[in-house]
Amino acid sequence: MENVPELFGSMVFNDQKMQERLPRTTYKALKKTIKNGEPLDISVANAVANAMKDWAVEMGCTHYTHWFQPMTGVTAEKHDSFIYPAEDGRVIMEFSGKELIKGEPDASSFPSGGIRATFEARGYTAWDPTSPAFIREKTLYIPTAFCSYTGEVLDKKTPLLRSMERLSSEAVKVLHLLGKKDVTRVTTTVGPEQEYFLIDKEMYDKRPDIIYTGRTLFGAPAPKGQELEDHYFGSIKTRVSAFMSDLDKELWKLGVLAKTKHNEVAPSQHELAPIFETSNIATDHNELTMEVMKKTAEKHGLVCLLHEKPFAGVNGSGKHNNWSISTNTGENLLDPGKDPENDLQFQLFLAAVVKAVHEYQDLLRLTVASAGNDHRLGANEAPPAIISMYLGDDLGALVDSIVECREYKSSGKGDMLTGVDVLPDLIKDTSDRNRTSPFAFTGNKFEFRALGSSLNIACPNYMLNTMVAEELSQFYDELKDAQDLDSAVRDLVKKVFTEHRSIIFNGDNYSEEWVKEAERRGLCNYRSLPEAMPHYIDQKNIDLFVKNGILSEAEIRARYEIEIEHYRKLLNIEARTMLDMAEKYITPAVISFIGSLADAAGAKKQLSASFSTYAEESLIGELSQTLEAFVKKTDELRQAVDEAAGLTGDNLGCAKFFREKVFPLMEELRTLGDAMERKTSAKYWPYPSYGEILFGV
Ligand code: ADP
Ligand code: MG
Repeated sequence: MENVPELFGSMVFNDQKMQERLPRTTYKALKKTIKNGEPLDISVANAVANAMKDWAVEMGCTHYTHWFQPMTGVTAEKHDSFIYPAEDGRVIMEFSGKELIKGEPDASSFPSGGIRATFEARGYTAWDPTSPAFIREKTLYIPTAFCSYTGEVLDKKTPLLRSMERLSSEAVKVLHLLGKKDVTRVTTTVGPEQEYFLIDKEMYDKRPDIIYTGRTLFGAPAPKGQELEDHYFGSIKTRVSAFMSDLDKELWKLGVLAKTKHNEVAPSQHELAPIFETSNIATDHNELTMEVMKKTAEKHGLVCLLHEKPFAGVNGSGKHNNWSISTNTGENLLDPGKDPENDLQFQLFLAAVVKAVHEYQDLLRLTVASAGNDHRLGANEAPPAIISMYLGDDLGALVDSIVECREYKSSGKGDMLTGVDVLPDLIKDTSDRNRTSPFAFTGNKFEFRALGSSLNIACPNYMLNTMVAEELSQFYDELKDAQDLDSAVRDLVKKVFTEHRSIIFNGDNYSEEWVKEAERRGLCNYRSLPEAMPHYIDQKNIDLFVKNGILSEAEIRARYEIEIEHYRKLLNIEARTMLDMAEKYITPAVISFIGSLADAAGAKKQLSASFSTYAEESLIGELSQTLEAFVKKTDELRQAVDEAAGLTGDNLGCAKFFREKVFPLMEELRTLGDAMERKTSAKYWPYPSYGEILFGV
């Protein structure tokens, strides 16, 4: 058994190592940069680079890489060795401040949404000193931001860092106004709970659909699914447990605060939750977690699936983004404390979040839209495509009492008696869970629950930070010249809750009534990515990002194009994979099986005309009929995919065509394929079944 405190962060150039290895003045200068965002001197960078290199080389590294998060949806790295020619034909290991601060990857192969076309192909990566460097596989990884030669942002980290700065300065202004003069910095914190599937590598290798698209495109349900609810929190199988403990160790070495692990609802589904950190580090760590999950699975003969909906008929995977705001003085600004009805500061920050979620519900919706997540949102396993907020009984009553000028009565925390003497009595949380709400208050933070499992959390978080910063800046402007601050705050809070209360919904988000009620309330309901994404470039949203200095209009339009293009490309790959499976494998397999049935029937008849061939004939009849429909549907799908290829000049038109025309054909083809799977001998069926995959580990 390893010593966990010793293991933890052993692969990270963390504060302790900096203190040990950097001259005092360098260490102090670097800390200033990290804490207050002050620019870094090149002499400091040189000293830091040298210390990092010495440590990395001692740890066996030969290379370093700038590690960044382009718009591809996965992280990118380009490895350079530390070697530097010395005079006598030998080499020494060198790493300069310049190399630490700036990298120059070729940007031409990363999505830029058309920005790059007008500029040079060169891109720059810039060191992010607020996220610590770490070692993986004999390489020193340096977290960086990524932009084009002319400074356009091409990644997900830069807007996140900007939004954190922005929220901090607006929140500090408001807090100073309220008398909290000792607060100098405010940070947003995030704890992302990550769901995933683990399947056997042998099964994976036999499923081209999972290999190419991350999900099954065909597959009849297994006799057992998740209906017994025996997997959730169930005891963890030996092989999975070995994977999990390996994963924990790898993550701990990298300084990731992996805390909770358990089985999820669907068979083969699991979850990992870390302890929260600043949004920036939480994002880097979540990206790392997903990568380490995949690598660790390989070592165990497993494959980790991060797709939002790998299997039809059982739950897909999401990610819960727990989000809060706290000050450098250690105060959580979303903690209602004992006396929320008299805590104007808490009310003001709560009002900012309520107003932000109401006004920018479309942004929150589209930031979680993806081809994969479209399968979940709105189905009865994940929050709906309609964004609303859940505040719980207590805060809900508080908001009502403020709007209606009534006295506030807390439902009372109170004890929850277990009724058994040997068990401790539990203290109830002020807010119970509403598992169906996409954006739920959970005690002292909000849990944004609509994220897909594979999503980079930078995007939802920079949107959240920016919209709340915007509201705080409006609040500040309204309050700064008030004669009587207390009553001005009270009036403002009342006005905000009155105008934006319609975003609050405590009922069942999965119900049909809610869809109707939400429509009455004027809330958005965008069912798919092609419906949601165009709102990215609505004027009010462009204004939000531009005014707050997060992204320029050109950058937003580029992001919008990238998302739409990515979507249509993914659906194209899915459709073509289906065609391949249908034409090359499923149709021939069913034909062979029908042939063997006919042979069997013929052989029987030869033995004796009195033998019944009812079984063979009825199966042949049923399969032939379905096969005919299947082949026709395959042709239809082929035609639709060809038609879509002609539309690629118009990204949105093409994406909509995929959603409205191609996608339904895929579903219909699947239904026919799955019907044949049910009737075809397993010996003939070309792919492992759902049962084998889902219960194979
Ligand atoms: P569950 O939703 O499964 O009940 P928990 O309540 O255990 O999960 O915690 C969910 C996540 O919320 C954890 O990752 C935890 O670190 C995170 N969390 C707790 N406090 C905060 C906070 N102030 N800011 C951000 N995340 C937080
Ligand atoms: Mg949760």
